[in-house]
Amino acid sequence: PVRVRFAPSPTGPLHIGGVRTALFNYLFAKKNGGTFYLRIEDTDQNRFVPGAEEYILEALEWLGISPEETIGKNEKFGPYRQSERKHLYKQYADLLIESGNAYYAFDTAESLDAHRKQHEAEGKTFIYNHHNREKLDTSLVLTEAETAKRIANNEDYVIRFKTPVNETLHLKDIIRGEVKFETNLLDDKVLFKSDGMPTYHLANIVDDHLMETSHVIRGEEWLPSMPLHVMLYRAFRWDAPEFAHLPLILKPIGNGKLSKRDGDKMGFPVFPLEWKTSEGVSSGYREKGFFPETVVNFLALLGWNDGTEKELFSLEELTQVFDLKRVHKSGAKFDPEKNKWFNHQYLMKQEDLVLAEQFSKIIESKDLNRYFSLVDLAKIVSLIKERADFVSEFYDMSDFFFIAPTTYDEKASKNWKAETPALMQELISVLEEISDFTSVNIETIVKDWMTKNEIGMGKVMQPFRLSLVGALKGPHLFDIVEVIGKQETISRLQNAIN
Ligand code: GLU
Repeated sequence: PVRVRFAPSPTGPLHIGGVRTALFNYLFAKKNGGTFYLRIEDTDQNRFVPGAEEYILEALEWLGISPEETIGKNEKFGPYRQSERKHLYKQYADLLIESGNAYYAFDTAESLDAHRKQHEAEGKTFIYNHHNREKLDTSLVLTEAETAKRIANNEDYVIRFKTPVNETLHLKDIIRGEVKFETNLLDDKVLFKSDGMPTYHLANIVDDHLMETSHVIRGEEWLPSMPLHVMLYRAFRWDAPEFAHLPLILKPIGNGKLSKRDGDKMGFPVFPLEWKTSEGVSSGYREKGFFPETVVNFLALLGWNDGTEKELFSLEELTQVFDLKRVHKSGAKFDPEKNKWFNHQYLMKQEDLVLAEQFSKIIESKDLNRYFSLVDLAKIVSLIKERADFVSEFYDMSDFFFIAPTTYDEKASKNWKAETPALMQELISVLEEISDFTSVNIETIVKDWMTKNEIGMGKVMQPFRLSLVGALKGPHLFDIVEVIGKQETISRLQNAIN
């Protein structure tokens, strides 16, 4: 059965790239009738950031891609937090030592540094493997008794993987096909430290095995770890999961990986949710007014498409068409402008009443003396949403519905002629007589009056709009008239006349 995981380290807010990894795992699980679980990889206590774990879960929940198993939820293979699995890992490190696949190393940071510097001076790179092993302070050169004694003396040690010599590994990645690695170029990575904690590599492999992970889907930055991981599965005599490494997410302009700085420079978030610390606030897509559907949609297209030009996908659709084999190898450019376009598409799909509810929260926070019912707000929404990307833009586009103008656009006021007040006064009389005060009816009656009296359109319509809006902007005039109502319309006309 398909079992995939998202395995973030709680070192801060989840970057949008991490969310894409979670999404692709979720989609792959759903598409294949499998399970998507979340494991917190917090073995590196130095990098632990309080609140990060909660943030990750909240972000996934907001997007509608919560894991089926995780901390506190269907803990079949629990615990799902590596720090709580601490007791498990040592025995696996010991197994590797017994089978000759790992060894103790006592090198100090200073001595490693000296080795590195010496290599550099000779124009070589220092690789911690068979090239140097006999010069290093490891159980490979010490006797068993010496090793045991130093451990008993509480000397700091690490357990390192013993990388095989002279092997070319031909590994399979679902997205990249065959990937080759030369073992002679790989370091003997640290698996376990004397503080009792495993490193990422050991914990990750042990847990993926114990939690029965069938596919490892993760970012390209982990591709260099793949040979070690496959060799670890081999050393344990476990079946390795299949691997898929997702392409990098690239900055909108120029080359290289998308970073927080790009977002700050260009004014777009790189996080799903806002993240606040004493050092400041990092903005989030949710707080910027993006719909979760928008974020799911644009993330899905970062490195994937369904083979057609189709761009709008609901989460539900994605779970039906997503295919790892269609994920690209090359990096995917992040396009903040296009993301706004996506949000506009989802804004247009929302019910006016739903948008009106969100709009009403903004309205309530303003000190206005004119309130509209939700139904009227929905009418306003229907008149303006075509030109908006976000609900947060609604108010500036429609403030004249709520507040009568007190000043009038200077340029537009040139349309206010000597005969205008009299005309507007007549218009008031016409409006007063209308009982069915709906846009189409008002328009018909006002236009009839103009035709009958041979009054030019411009002579009435422009001053009329100016009186109601304060400028020559806004949606269809008679729609505005209907929404603000007879009394308000007449009062604004009167204000303008005086
Ligand atoms: N803890 C790793 C991370 O933070 C997980 C990498 C993996 O999926 O193997 O991304």
